[in-house]
Amino acid sequence: MNQSSLQLYSFLSRFSPLKSYKGKIMLVAFLGTHVPLLTLLFYFVISNSLTLAMTVRVLAIALLATLAGTGATLYALHYLLIPVLLTSATLQKYLAQNILPSLPTQFGDEAGSLMANTSRTLQKLDEAIHHMANYDDLTGLPNRDLFLERLRLALSEAKEDVHHLVIIALDLDRFHEINNALGRSTGDLLLREVVQRLTTCMEETDVLSRFGNDEFVMLRTNLTTLDSASALSQELLETIAQPYQLNGKTVHTSASAGITIYPFDGTSVEQLLQNADAALNQAKGQQRNTYQFYSSDRNSKLHERLALEEELRHALRREEMFLRYQPRVDLETGNTIAVEALLRWRSPEWGLVSPGKFIPIAEESGLIIPIGEWVLRTACAQNQAWQKAGFPPLRVSVNLSACQFKQKNLIEMVDQVLTETGLDPSYLELEVTESLIVEDVEEAIAILGQLHQRGITLSLDDFGTGYSSMNYLQQFPINTLKIDRSFVSHVGSNPNNAAITRAIIALARSLHLNITAEGVETQEQLNYLENHGCDEVQGYYFSGALSPDALTSFISRSTNYVDVEMERRH
Ligand code: C2E
Ligand code: MG
Ligand code: MG
Repeated sequence: MNQSSLQLYSFLSRFSPLKSYKGKIMLVAFLGTHVPLLTLLFYFVISNSLTLAMTVRVLAIALLATLAGTGATLYALHYLLIPVLLTSATLQKYLAQNILPSLPTQFGDEAGSLMANTSRTLQKLDEAIHHMANYDDLTGLPNRDLFLERLRLALSEAKEDVHHLVIIALDLDRFHEINNALGRSTGDLLLREVVQRLTTCMEETDVLSRFGNDEFVMLRTNLTTLDSASALSQELLETIAQPYQLNGKTVHTSASAGITIYPFDGTSVEQLLQNADAALNQAKGQQRNTYQFYSSDRNSKLHERLALEEELRHALRREEMFLRYQPRVDLETGNTIAVEALLRWRSPEWGLVSPGKFIPIAEESGLIIPIGEWVLRTACAQNQAWQKAGFPPLRVSVNLSACQFKQKNLIEMVDQVLTETGLDPSYLELEVTESLIVEDVEEAIAILGQLHQRGITLSLDDFGTGYSSMNYLQQFPINTLKIDRSFVSHVGSNPNNAAITRAIIALARSLHLNITAEGVETQEQLNYLENHGCDEVQGYYFSGALSPDALTSFISRSTNYVDVEMERRH
């Protein structure tokens, strides 16, 4: 078939009523089906051999048959033409509105393959166009437009269920020098290799995009801590800084990174990217191969934190940690019946660092695991030493943090420490917080149950500050609630705090739990707690945290409420 076979088609197209393809086919079919009738008519006109009545009858039958035949033919043709008309309409729709066709693909004849091939071709074309419009040719990464689209989506999700996003803008250091010295094709190879390496640091939900020349931007949507943002940036920079083998040459490069975090550094796509760029420029201005947070405050905090963490790593080995013990007094007898072991760290560089500062770092870095084990061992050994020295029975309470609690071998570790030190489990108390046990209730009940079975006392620390569910409370095998000192310190001045304290005591009573009040500093607070049925108290009113020697003399001096000089300095 060639162009000349379009003659009839082109001839018919000249007549305006026949502009439609269907019109042309229908006209031809109409004429074709009328040929026998016209032939008959012509025959009668020229032969004149039949009677008029006969002629009329034959013509009437022929006319009826022709009309019926034409009707049926046109009707069938109308349906047979549908594949062509449908394909044409579909193409039109794709061109005008970019809507992809859904044409049938199961027919094997010419009209069937017209539909199927149109469908497939448009699909491929669309994919190719989409790829060209959204992906970078050289690296195959999403381009800026697609990244913006994904970021917009991530942002609206983050706003809805309140989580953080981290955006890291990366730029290779001195890339144009490599391009100039080794040529563009080596530069391209380097960019591809960089992308290859960056993708190994990515999680499934991360988006990495090439914004331009040697500039990349990464989005992480499941940021858990600020530190994980710096850890990720560090990892990206380290992987980029490894040497490359390109066309038989060893090439070195590095990158700088700027980090912004939603919602702290911006709440819109534009703001977050603009600030990431500003942070990147700052990083580039300082020294190569570094990252910068957008907020300078965050940078200095981060540096201090990193330095502390580094020091903390060596603290145990360098014997910079020690324990202080704060007495817990029984209100009925006035005797010290327990002591809380409180961790202290004296760093040669930072001096005495408060636990409020270093414990979160130890928790986030995982260092709390060995440190916590050391605390438990030291506290148990100390208590055993007191027992051996003839002290009255004394419980030592040790704080457990979330990561210790989640540690698989917590129970074995506790068993081992008790065996090693020879301390009776009834002389040990473990303090856990509400937030820690409501994370996985079933698991917490199981772990606490095992500890409880061994005769270890269990207490819920800082009670009232977390999200305790009263329903769960009765399921946990705990012995004691420790009312947080934020309530205790205001019992005299704030009626709400007084009411909460009263309610916690009543709750503990009805659940048959022992109740300890933390942070008792005044006689007034003590009276209030005593009048409302609190069992035990702990606070500066009696004593701050003491060294083992100071505690020995505290206990020997205090048989009843003795107003002891507060020992706040450690
Ligand atoms: P915590 O377990 O609630 O410990 C009680 C804190 O209140 C201690 O602070 C103690 O010194 C302080 N305190 C006691 N009486 C009073 C008072 O009358 N007034 C005031 N204002 N404060 C009082 P510290 O030693 O700074 O410990 C802070 C937190 O650090 C502890 O809170 C505990 O959560 C954590 N911590 C301490 N040692 C350890 C440990 O060995 N392991 C773990 N995981 N956490 C620990
Ligand atoms: Mg505690
Ligand atoms: Mg507490």
